[in-house]
Amino acid sequence: MLSFWEKSSLVEVDIAIVGGGLVGLSVAASLKEKFPSKSVTIFERSCLPYGASTRNAGFACFGSLTEMLSDIHQMGEENARELVFQRWMGLQITRKRLSDQAIGFLPAGGFELVDSNQNYNEAVEKVNFLVDDFIPDYISLSNAHKSTLGIVATGDVYSMKDEGQVHTGELMKAMEKYVLQLGVMIRTGSEVIGVEGNSLTIKDQYRGNIDFSADKIVICNNAFAASLIPDVEVQPGRGQVFITHPIPNLTFRGNLHVDEGFYYLRNVGDRLLFGGGRNIDFQAEETTEFALNEMIQKTLESKLNVLFGEAFKFEVDQRWTGIMAFGDDKRPIVKRLDDTIIIAVKMGGMGIALAGYIGEEVAELIN
Ligand SMILES: Cc1cc2nc3c(=O)[nH]c(=O)nc-3n(C[C@H](O)[C@H](O)[C@H](O)COP(=O)(O)OP(=O)(O)OC[C@H]3O[C@@H](n4cnc5c(N)ncnc54)[C@H](O)[C@@H]3O)c2cc1C
Repeated sequence: MLSFWEKSSLVEVDIAIVGGGLVGLSVAASLKEKFPSKSVTIFERSCLPYGASTRNAGFACFGSLTEMLSDIHQMGEENARELVFQRWMGLQITRKRLSDQAIGFLPAGGFELVDSNQNYNEAVEKVNFLVDDFIPDYISLSNAHKSTLGIVATGDVYSMKDEGQVHTGELMKAMEKYVLQLGVMIRTGSEVIGVEGNSLTIKDQYRGNIDFSADKIVICNNAFAASLIPDVEVQPGRGQVFITHPIPNLTFRGNLHVDEGFYYLRNVGDRLLFGGGRNIDFQAEETTEFALNEMIQKTLESKLNVLFGEAFKFEVDQRWTGIMAFGDDKRPIVKRLDDTIIIAVKMGGMGIALAGYIGEEVAELIN
């Protein structure tokens, strides 16, 4: 039961956003920048966002050589190019909005380790030609970096220009602060359990369900979208990660993509953060449960020794998981479902860079 005051002032908003991850926050920022006088409220089910945005690896990346080749193969050159452009543009928007210092952005460099038995010369030329108008000379052979990185595994190293790292925690903090300053309301502990017409039903652990109404509702709950929109073509994909204790004399700096992006390694100061391995247990990892997968975690540990050599010593400090959203191809779903509801989900494994662009795309859909 609502009080007179709640009913008259608190449960009606102009724009409601479901999900307080980086995309929900970026959508809120773009909408509030476009419509300063509209009330914008984010409903986030958890105290801290509980999906991918606070649990990722912090690569500010646009697509490695083999990822791009696989995307070109799967969805054609134009779509693959467009996706890289969206990520590149999205990152510019976020960096400009928040400042590099606030998000811990470091132009650390992106590298990929590939099979040296394969000749990638033509492929590099093709990819570079595709993205030339926004990142000239994007990919180049960079074997000289192999020894600085300390990599002993066989393979060639290519580098991706303009790739960097963010401090994921600081990015989320800065983004929350930014939208709060704009006047966005963030309601945490507010799981949206139903959306119908202009109404959203929020589950509240103290008082049962509360109905809010909104002129527009933007669904940004990514991997969890099917709980509200059953026919959405999104599958969850869990990501396994660990971070080591600081490693004395670590020379590795930057981001390394391995096995078409299924493994990702970066330094965080003198620590290494290593994640991935979904491809060795796809079925088990297609889940919204946050549990660790022991087999994948063990594989990550042995893979690190393959990369740096058996003599390389490290100790795992923390392990965690996060849930991503995938589909038939890597293109995000951003569309209007009806006059009220817009959906912006399926950010795959590169939502950090993409988020700023998605916010603008959603703002375009609302007048
Ligand atoms: C292990 C891992 C590593 C990654 N590494 C990188 C990387 O290095 N670089 C990169 O660019 N990307 C990376 N990603 C992907 C990136 O984190 C995501 O693409 C991005 O965070 C997606 O943001 P989002 O806001 O769409 O989704 P989320 O961050 O998942 O946000 C969705 C939010 O919706 C909330 N929610 C769900 N259902 C409801 C509901 N019914 N009501 C209210 N709230 C709800 C959830 O609690 C969650 O906070 C990684 C992801 C993982 C898991």
